[in-house]
Amino acid sequence: MRQRIIAGNWKMYKTIAEAEQFANAVKQAELSATVEKVICAPFTALSALSAILKGTEIKLGAQNVHFAEEGAYTGEISPLMLKELGVDYVIIGHSERRQYFNETDETVNKKVKAALQHGLKPIICVGETLAEYEANETEAVVRRQTEAALQGLSAEQVSVSVIAYEPVWAIGTGKSSTAENANQTIAYIRHVIASQFDQDTANAVRIQYGGSVKPDNVAGFLQQSDIDGALVGGASLTVEGYLGLIAGA
Ligand code: PEP
Repeated sequence: MRQRIIAGNWKMYKTIAEAEQFANAVKQAELSATVEKVICAPFTALSALSAILKGTEIKLGAQNVHFAEEGAYTGEISPLMLKELGVDYVIIGHSERRQYFNETDETVNKKVKAALQHGLKPIICVGETLAEYEANETEAVVRRQTEAALQGLSAEQVSVSVIAYEPVWAIGTGKSSTAENANQTIAYIRHVIASQFDQDTANAVRIQYGGSVKPDNVAGFLQQSDIDGALVGGASLTVEGYLGLIAGA
């Protein structure tokens, strides 16, 4: 049985004070114990959130990481530094990073390896652009991105990783994929992992859908056979939204 996982991606939103207010409010709420709950916050809010969420069921995530442990990489944050802050998860290869910050399949793979080596669980984002979707290239794109991201990992490392299938055209647009289409692509990603590793590994890895998920459509995605959770941007920014997503899951 794969545990469902709802992860909020706050992107570049929330000051430390706003993050603290959010965490203190969410901490008071009754949360479903069956769903794994993650908040991926900006680096600047991680320390404060770590202190507030300590001892709760809400896990902390970052939105990027460098692949080196330390070094002359001005402006970067290492996996060791995230671990020290009490971070459990890290988003790697989000389409915004691929699009605006030159993230490539190769750097994604390096970051995934580095994260796992330091005990951080990667949430690896894959997904096609609108042009690729219209050209019927979805499967080719997710195959290439998934195989590249997981290259050189052990089956055990893959099993603890999370994949997020996020069609780029659905992120922040209000136009989500249909649950059936998302499920079909996610089942295909599982098939890719079975070919690259083995069926047991493919059955173990959790695969989320992401792209305009809201409290009122999350259940439809999670009812599908292969969708194990959601990676959510906009709707995870308010306390009501985040709690609604967890309740809906
Ligand atoms: C995301 O940031 O990964 C995302 C899916 O955003 P949104 O939920 O706002 O579409």
